[in-house]
Amino acid sequence: MAQQDDVFKKIVSHAKEYGFVFQSSEIYDGLAAVYDYGQNGVELKNNIKRYWWEAMTLLHENIVGIDSAIFMHPTIWKASGHVDAFNDPLIDNRDSKKRYRADVLIEEELAKIDDKIEKDVAKAAKRFGDSFDETLFRQTNPRVVERVKERDELHERFAKAMNDNNLDELRQIIIDREIVCPVSGTKNWTEVRQFNLMFRTEMGSTADGAMTVYLRPETAQGIFVNYLNVQKTGRMRIPFGIAQIGKAFRNEIIARQFIFRMREFEQMEMQFFVRPGEELKWFEYWKEWRLRWHKALGMGDRKYRYHDHDKLAHYANAATDIEFEMPFGFKEVEGIHSRTNFDLSQHEKFSGKNIKYFDPELNENYTPYVIETSIGVDRMFLSVLCSSYEEQKLEGGDTRVVLHLPAPLAPVKCAVMPLVKKDGLPEKARAIVDDLKFDFSTRYDEKDSIGKRYRRQDAIGTPFCITVDHQTLEDNTVTLRERDSMEQTRVNVDDLHRLIHDRVSLNSLLRKLA
Ligand code: ATP
Repeated sequence: MAQQDDVFKKIVSHAKEYGFVFQSSEIYDGLAAVYDYGQNGVELKNNIKRYWWEAMTLLHENIVGIDSAIFMHPTIWKASGHVDAFNDPLIDNRDSKKRYRADVLIEEELAKIDDKIEKDVAKAAKRFGDSFDETLFRQTNPRVVERVKERDELHERFAKAMNDNNLDELRQIIIDREIVCPVSGTKNWTEVRQFNLMFRTEMGSTADGAMTVYLRPETAQGIFVNYLNVQKTGRMRIPFGIAQIGKAFRNEIIARQFIFRMREFEQMEMQFFVRPGEELKWFEYWKEWRLRWHKALGMGDRKYRYHDHDKLAHYANAATDIEFEMPFGFKEVEGIHSRTNFDLSQHEKFSGKNIKYFDPELNENYTPYVIETSIGVDRMFLSVLCSSYEEQKLEGGDTRVVLHLPAPLAPVKCAVMPLVKKDGLPEKARAIVDDLKFDFSTRYDEKDSIGKRYRRQDAIGTPFCITVDHQTLEDNTVTLRERDSMEQTRVNVDDLHRLIHDRVSLNSLLRKLA
């Protein structure tokens, strides 16, 4: 674990050093859990957003996008349940004065038991080799059986406490499991309290009687209150979806792990409106399709898993998370929820307006059911960054830090470098940049040795480096160096566009999903 922490620290400092992510307000000592994206970060982030947006709106004829305002009528948050129920259970340690989410402390305890089980299985697999029967081992090994029982009991108790909103019981679980504060190491816990995560502000001058409004904690409600506008003006027929990318704000109790948990973050949400009774079929569809979107990036299929929810939110009848293996364990990156007709019914009730859909095939009016896919841009960014980072030992004892970013997401697609700063090579290199820049984000670099220039591009994940040398002037060929293999091939300048395009275009990624 210590080693994993080290890797994570290195990733965080790499992100800063190479212009991906900066602490917000850094020269004023920073603002907790708020971050700014730098010159490379913003490109990576935009590419992630484009991949999502195009996968949703180009590949699905029946999905369109919107961009709704962050401020909305405050009654929307009453109707959605956020004013009354968007809470986290918090607990303080009296000695360290540190604050924790009670549910997260217990989830970490569950993960510890899971880890022990997996370690036992892995050890046995190694010992027995090919003859290992994993299912049989899990069913019969006394230690594993005991641990599974312990885990299931804890899990059941925890799920019940969360469902019943029983804060005393959550505290009792923490006491009974002897969970200690990671900072003070003591069990000196306060009571568990509920804490609402919405930021409030005031709209209008106080003289007019200002109205309390909220910074939206999710983008979804902007879609719900517009669904009929879009349906009517876009002549959409059920099933159809509305996608949106935008900022969301949550006053998170604990903000750790860099951009994993932020107070201001960005979401990519899609609400898919379906006939009542068909929601679970569509839930399965979107569950599978969203995982496919992740896996197409080629970061390793084993890094993903589903985590089905036990405590369903007040609005859901099925929910799962797609988790990604970060250096600090498997963590939620995306949620897929079957939200029933809860939100639309609530808005109908609170607004007093009829927002039912008329289904021409059934010749009836109904309130559609909704499947939501909701992914955090920043968490997705973090998963891409973590899985791409490598400190590589090279032949000859040299090392390099390389980001193996999926090529279509890389901030810079190619860098063009004259071998020396004279003999007409810079001019030729510039001419190549001027041609490629219309299609790919292209950099020109002539400073330092060629080796150093390659390292700089490796560190920001540039898939291709093009080197212009004296031979280029004679036969119009350059060396094309590939980031991951470091292989260099001699290619004609006229072929560059095609060779690069095949690897870096978003198009090729989208085709994998078709
Ligand atoms: P968590 O349990 O981690 O607090 P959540 O279940 O409350 O997350 P959702 O409400 O389902 O999250 O939000 C959908 C997605 O938005 C999450 O999967 C995550 O990627 C992202 N997200 C939520 N909260 C944050 C945050 N504070 N910082 C960054 N991303 C977030």
